[in-house]
Amino acid sequence: MKRETYKGRKIKAVKGRGSAWGYSRVTLNGVDMGKYMGDEGTALASVRSYIDHADEVGVSSARYGAEWYAPGTYELCDHGHAKAIGGLCGHSYCEERRAEPCANITVGGVCVCDHCMKPYLAAS
Ligand SMILES: [Zn+2]
Ligand SMILES: [Zn+2]
Repeated sequence: MKRETYKGRKIKAVKGRGSAWGYSRVTLNGVDMGKYMGDEGTALASVRSYIDHADEVGVSSARYGAEWYAPGTYELCDHGHAKAIGGLCGHSYCEERRAEPCANITVGGVCVCDHCMKPYLAAS
């Protein structure tokens, strides 16, 4: 098992056995990231390059989950997405809600406007 801290992120890689042979299991800031190809060193190197990319696109891009960023360098939006502190959330769900504000068509205490119904329609 190898552990390291890269740019404030805690990474752990554990070499796989049996069916996971040739892979390493990666934990990033305490979140299980699944299997990465290669030994522990290779897995850590791939995670480092993803972290570099996560920094490049920025936390508000919503391209990477919160676990890809160093604790204390981001905050969560009202819907639980990581975003820059004081910045706007770049997650498509939040961007759509900003683009299309609530029309306040209340039926039985529940708003049925396109904006509020969208998440339910998309999920069905
Ligand atoms: Zn959001
Ligand atoms: Zn609404």
